[in-house]
Amino acid sequence: MHTSGDRAVVLGGSMAGLLAARVLADAYAEVVIVERDELPHDAAHRRGVPQARHIHGLLAGGQQALEELFDGLTDELVGLGAPAGDLLEDLRAYFGGHRLKPGPSGLLALQPSRPMLEAALRARVRTLPSVQFMDRCDVAGLTTTSDNRRVTGARVVRRLDGSAEQTLTADLVVDATGRGSRTPAWLEMLGYPRPPLDRVEIGIGYASRTYRLTPGLLDGGLGILNAPTPDHPRGGALAAIENDRFLVTLFGILGDHPPTDPAGFTGFAATLQFPDIHHALRDAEPLDQPVPFRHPASVRHRYERLSAFPDGLLVIGDAMCTFNPIYGQGMSVVALQALALRAHLEQHTTPQPVAFLRQMGRIVDVPWNMATGGDLAFPKVAGRRTVQMRLLNRYLARMLAGAAHDPRLGRAFLRVAGLVDPPQALLAPGVTARVLRPGLPGRGR
Ligand SMILES: Cc1cc2nc3c(=O)[nH]c(=O)nc-3n(C[C@H](O)[C@H](O)[C@H](O)COP(=O)(O)OP(=O)(O)OC[C@H]3O[C@@H](n4cnc5c(N)ncnc54)[C@H](O)[C@@H]3O)c2cc1C
Repeated sequence: MHTSGDRAVVLGGSMAGLLAARVLADAYAEVVIVERDELPHDAAHRRGVPQARHIHGLLAGGQQALEELFDGLTDELVGLGAPAGDLLEDLRAYFGGHRLKPGPSGLLALQPSRPMLEAALRARVRTLPSVQFMDRCDVAGLTTTSDNRRVTGARVVRRLDGSAEQTLTADLVVDATGRGSRTPAWLEMLGYPRPPLDRVEIGIGYASRTYRLTPGLLDGGLGILNAPTPDHPRGGALAAIENDRFLVTLFGILGDHPPTDPAGFTGFAATLQFPDIHHALRDAEPLDQPVPFRHPASVRHRYERLSAFPDGLLVIGDAMCTFNPIYGQGMSVVALQALALRAHLEQHTTPQPVAFLRQMGRIVDVPWNMATGGDLAFPKVAGRRTVQMRLLNRYLARMLAGAAHDPRLGRAFLRVAGLVDPPQALLAPGVTARVLRPGLPGRGR
């Protein structure tokens, strides 16, 4: 690969920062990751990623993209103890009020905990000779040329007493600081328009707790997924993770949040549409206390709609778009974005922010439309429901009813929801014929 420049600086050292650094290391002589937290060497929790205490499903499309970025990662994770199996065969999955009929899907369910996945990626990135980690270091802002047309670096402050601000010069700065990204404010200060904002107020609350289950309870299965429906808007999941542990995440929307006291947590599990998770908890040994997380709204910064943007700056990951976490998309979208960044760097001698951000927008379109379309199936969630969205939700409800008997429909659904196939695959003739077969109960809205 050609060299795009001397130094790239990545702001934030979580999923997006690590994956961006992986790709930039092929194009820049030096890549510096600036991260506020002290980055652990093992699979430990840290302040900057509080969501890591909750189930982090890796979609099949994300797993495949990560494998493309880090050759042999899947085997490495399995070797380290991450549970793995077939997504449809080994996971008890309820979608649309139906249990998907098990059957081989050819889709890998790989289930490291989020700290384990991040630690494995971090270890891989640490081996890249051109990458340096600058942790315990806050990003305070950007530096630019006097006409503000080009970003020339970042202002950073080491988290040591009395440390003065310093400037890290860079040919490219990548904002991977997650949901709290300040790029919209920085753009405004530099005289550029902020990106338009899309928000869907879902008011979702999570609570999660780790357990050891009665041996053999799941019969070697990878877990249970009870997706919510408009009739039963509470949901939850139980997932095997490394070290013989199971993580249980419960959630409710629009303020109906699971309690975090142990009795309230188990009581909430008992109110889900299907009793499987509650039953599994009956004789389970809790290993910690339930912890909460609030996700008031899914937020998409529409960078792809900007026609003016400073050179030398890119945005990636949650800094661009945060999804309703129940669809498990965030990390997989980051992995797909990193692959697109690699393709962009191969195509252009210097990155072209406007073109790159448009490409990012196209990547975000599919998961964003799926997630917000799913959210708007809940009648009390505010937002514009297009005819196309209503029809798709009706069609999906029929498809999931069919998937209760026909693993081919479950497989087709999981391939699209897993970002392996495009949504059009739901309308492939072999699929529509099965979905529209007379006699299937249509429960759509
Ligand atoms: C409750 C919950 C459950 C989720 N479940 C799933 C799931 O099942 N599957 C899935 O794929 N995704 C899931 N996600 C989404 C996933 O966590 C994110 O998409 C992913 O972490 C995005 O990575 P990121 O690097 O863009 O941002 P983050 O992981 O948020 O990381 C941002 C990093 O930037 C650092 N930082 C921030 N500001 C500064 C600063 N000023 N200076 C220096 N460093 C800074 C932070 O410390 C942090 O390390 C979930 C999210 C939530 C909230």
